[in-house]
Amino acid sequence: RSVKSILLKYFIILMLGSFSIFADDLSETVYFPGEDHEITVIQIKGREPGNTVMLLGGIQGDEPGGYLSADAYLDIRLRKGNLIVIPRSNLPSILNNTRAVNGDMNRRFGEHPPIDYEDEVVAIIKKYMQKSDLFLNLHDGWGFYNPVYIDKNRNPRRFGQSIIIDAESYEHNGKKIELMNLAQEVLRLTNANISDTLLHLHLMNTKTMDPNTPFPDMKLTATYYALTQCGIPAFGVESSKNIGSDTDKALYHIYAINAFLKLFDVIPEFPFLPYYPARNCESFIRVNEEKEKIYRAGDTLFCDMGDNIQITGYKAIPHRGIFFDISGTGTSNDLYRKVTIRKEHEITIRQDSHIIGKIHILPRKESQRFLRYLFTVNDENILLKEGETLNLRPADKFIIVEVISELFDSKEVKVNLKGWVPSMSSNPGEDRGYTIRGSELNWKKYSVYGKGRVYPVVTLLNNEEISTVYISVDHPLP
Ligand SMILES: [Zn+2]
Repeated sequence: RSVKSILLKYFIILMLGSFSIFADDLSETVYFPGEDHEITVIQIKGREPGNTVMLLGGIQGDEPGGYLSADAYLDIRLRKGNLIVIPRSNLPSILNNTRAVNGDMNRRFGEHPPIDYEDEVVAIIKKYMQKSDLFLNLHDGWGFYNPVYIDKNRNPRRFGQSIIIDAESYEHNGKKIELMNLAQEVLRLTNANISDTLLHLHLMNTKTMDPNTPFPDMKLTATYYALTQCGIPAFGVESSKNIGSDTDKALYHIYAINAFLKLFDVIPEFPFLPYYPARNCESFIRVNEEKEKIYRAGDTLFCDMGDNIQITGYKAIPHRGIFFDISGTGTSNDLYRKVTIRKEHEITIRQDSHIIGKIHILPRKESQRFLRYLFTVNDENILLKEGETLNLRPADKFIIVEVISELFDSKEVKVNLKGWVPSMSSNPGEDRGYTIRGSELNWKKYSVYGKGRVYPVVTLLNNEEISTVYISVDHPLP
């Protein structure tokens, strides 16, 4: 396919405001790409058909247990059933670690005309609920829910460490959804993992349909919408804000999510590490005792003969299965190996058997072989290689136009016609671009053999001469 058609497709997608990446068992759709409220929806399709479980994280941004636990389900694969995961539904609130930006996104599921970005996101969440058989809204609540009052942190008004239902059961199109029975079974499985009984999760029934409910605004939440409008079982899963570690908060969610998956017969492959081609590989290479620098595939590392180089580490996504082979030395596994440079080398970077990049190690003196000099002589182009001589007559006009190398940017070097000084120059030692007459080359000091006939043009990289060509002028004999 042509680049043009891919670009065209990309523009169309941008205009629609979302783009998708599809594989057989995985799709990733990004809505509002590049916006503050970008959301990513990951759908994982099992090898066998089954129920679809939807996980919603980060609807209130100061509840990291929810979005971090949702993240844990993005790289899994399923033997049976399907997952829809929106780990970060309210990105602006997450980036600010605050509950709400323009008002609580989890009170936007009632009927009202769209006002803010929250409503645009809610419309997308609702769309995915329609495809689901179970909806879980992942939160970190304050304190610890307890059916009886113990203290101000542990009582029936606290939400932390609970599974929340809107009613004991709910009837939708003649089908009875047994919320309490399901939650109790989930609590049994979840709490079996938690040895500290003070951290056990409890059942919290907000009795949302009850006219006397203490929580009437629950009618505007995602779970209530999923239950009453989509007719699917829906639960709030709450870890506690009063648990210090975000990892622990996420872990209690994971116990509960795993219990729900089990009940709904959605079976993950475990353990399972999906294969991704490595990308963004950066190698950290140290020369002698200097600080290491970052090199990417295709880069050239210039050093001097006798320098010691060492690959001290790397970054790649994914990180495992990456190996470095420095040609002509060591083994095929040269990470951390110190190598003294006496010649040119190539570092081959492999992800297992796949070559994912090469880095060139070039002693500066060797880099001359890759240089070409472009001159114009009386407006005609002439290319010279290392050591070659350009023969001129005194009347010829020439310009050192450029040096060309695949190994470095020509701006990194200086090109100097030794002994010649332009009449007005702001960059000493840089002689590219000037029109010079052959007859001007009449000094003896720098000419080869001091005879006033052959003049060196040198290229300097970091003030070191790496290459020379010559200009010979056929002066009439005195
Ligand atoms: Zn919350």
